[in-house]
Amino acid sequence: MEIDLTKVKNIVFLTGAGISQESGIKTFRDQDGLWENHSIQEVACPKAYARDPNLVHRFYNLRRAQLHEVEPNPAHKAIGALSKCKNFNVSVITQNVDDLHERGGAKKVLHMHGELRRIRNNETGQTRYFEGQVPEEQFQIWRPDIVWFGEDIKCGDKIPELIGQADLFIAVGTSSQVYPAAGFVSMANFNQIPTVELNLEKTQMSQYYTTTFQGKASMLVPEFIQTYLGIKI
Ligand code: NAD
Repeated sequence: MEIDLTKVKNIVFLTGAGISQESGIKTFRDQDGLWENHSIQEVACPKAYARDPNLVHRFYNLRRAQLHEVEPNPAHKAIGALSKCKNFNVSVITQNVDDLHERGGAKKVLHMHGELRRIRNNETGQTRYFEGQVPEEQFQIWRPDIVWFGEDIKCGDKIPELIGQADLFIAVGTSSQVYPAAGFVSMANFNQIPTVELNLEKTQMSQYYTTTFQGKASMLVPEFIQTYLGIKI
């Protein structure tokens, strides 16, 4: 790889559904744009919640329950191990709503599309950590703290700052078809920092990365961290 990584301190990861695929969570593209057989219009937009809060909550209750059945894989754990290393300052911007990065040991995780294990009060806007099932009588009071289609991403103001301070930007398991995340590589390029794409296959944004590697995240991420950043995992 033609990148000098000896002066790298601040590392920003951008992760997508592909990093959690080997843990057993299906990616969006895996299923022709359907999520557990529901179209996005049925479950992941504000109109759907206004029309049928029962269906939306049942869908997210199920997905939240599924988190009990999955574990972080070697890719999450490798990023977690790197996060613990004093020589590096590691931030993870994730499009994923699962909590596998946190359970894999990552310290600074920014969930730009929200979190399954968080609910939001419709009246106050306050959010709270939540592992269980929202009961039916609370369906109108609490909503999943998920960024639905048509809504603003979370921490939109922090992301340019994070990428602006980074020495290295690494995207893992994202199709680069969903904006604004797909555009973060351009932000990194603007800041003239090296960019690496680790994905099962090439994407429409591959050409904008300094280097790309194709393969499974559970292999690529630990391998990259060991080989190029010198961390024993
Ligand atoms: P995506 O489904 O559009 O793309 C996934 C990418 O990962 C693809 O390019 C695919 O080739 C790659 N991939 C699949 N398996 C892989 C593996 N084992 N190793 C490496 N790469 C692999 O996902 P996206 O780019 O994150 O965007 C889809 C949207 O769906 C996001 O907004 C996200 O919030 C949401 N989503 C989240 C989850 C989750 O929380 N785990 C799951 C599904 C969808």
